[in-house]
Amino acid sequence: MADWRDQVALVTGGGRGIGRAIARRLAREGASVCVNFVSRAEDAEALVADITAEGGRAIAVAADVSDDAAVEGMVDRVSATFGPVTILVNNAGISHKGTLDNYDSEKLERMRQVNVDGVIHTTRAVMTDMRRQKYGRIVNITSVAAIGTSLPGNAFYAATKAEAQILTLRFAMELGAHGITVNAVAPGFVETEMTRAGGNEDAWKERAQKIGGLAMTGRVGAPDDIANAVAFFASPDAGWVTGQVLAVDGGRMDYIGH
Ligand code: NAD
Repeated sequence: MADWRDQVALVTGGGRGIGRAIARRLAREGASVCVNFVSRAEDAEALVADITAEGGRAIAVAADVSDDAAVEGMVDRVSATFGPVTILVNNAGISHKGTLDNYDSEKLERMRQVNVDGVIHTTRAVMTDMRRQKYGRIVNITSVAAIGTSLPGNAFYAATKAEAQILTLRFAMELGAHGITVNAVAPGFVETEMTRAGGNEDAWKERAQKIGGLAMTGRVGAPDDIANAVAFFASPDAGWVTGQVLAVDGGRMDYIGH
C-alpha cells in the first residue's frame, strides 16, 4: 500500500472545478481514479480521456452521492475495475444562498443531503474494504465558511460544511485504529463555476479582487491550490496525520470570531 501506483481513488463531483483538479493530480501521482459525476457526463468523460492520454488510469461513474444505493453501486463498479478504493475524496457539494430573512428549508435540506449525507454514504461504502486492508485515506472538502469566515449570505451552507467538519473528526476517531485517516481541507474562495455563477466577467473581476484582498496572499485560490493539499492527506506518507482540518485559503483575515 505504500506506493502511489497501488492507490485507487474515488473523487466525488470530479468532473469540474476543484474535483477535476484533485482527480487529475491524484492520477498524475500514479493512482487509478474514479471521476464521479451526477450531471454533465461529457465533462467527466473529457477528464478521463485527458488522464488516459497522459498515461494514467481513470473511469467516469455516475452517482448522486445523496443516494445511498447509487453510491454502493459506484463503489462496487470501481472495485471491479481497479480494485478496492483506498482514497476517498468527498468533494461533491452544492451551495445555495440563504439568510434568516430568506430561509428556505427545502434548499437547506438538499444541501444537507449532498454536503453531509453524501459524506456519510461514501464513507460507509468504502470503509469495509479499507478496514479489511487496514489502509485508507479519506479527505473531505469542507469550507472556511464552516470555521467562520464572514462573507454574508451563506449561513446555511456554512452550517452543512460545519457538520461535515465535525464528522471528519468523529470518523477519524472511529476508523483510526484500522489504518484509515480522515482529514478535511477547508478551501477559501476558489475560482470555479460555483463561485463564478451568475456574474459577467467584469463583475467577477471586481468580486475576485475584493475577496482576494481579504487574504494575506492577496488573491483568490485556484483549484490546484486545493488539489495540492489533498494530495498530501491522500498520500501513503500521511499515515500519522488524522482528524485535521487544513484551511487552504491564502490566509483569510475576515473571520467573525475564533
Ligand atoms: P462546482 O460547483 O464547480 O463543482 C461541484 C461538483 O459537485 C460538480 O461536479 C457537481 O456536479 C458535483 N455534485 C453536486 N451535487 C452532486 C451530487 N449530488 N452527487 C455527485 N456530485 C455532485 O464547485 P467547486 O467550487 O469545484 O466545489 C467543490 C467543493 O469545494 C464543494 O464541496 C464546495 O462546497 C467546496 N468549496 C468550494 C469553494 C470555492 O470557493 N469554490 C470554497 C469552499 C468550499
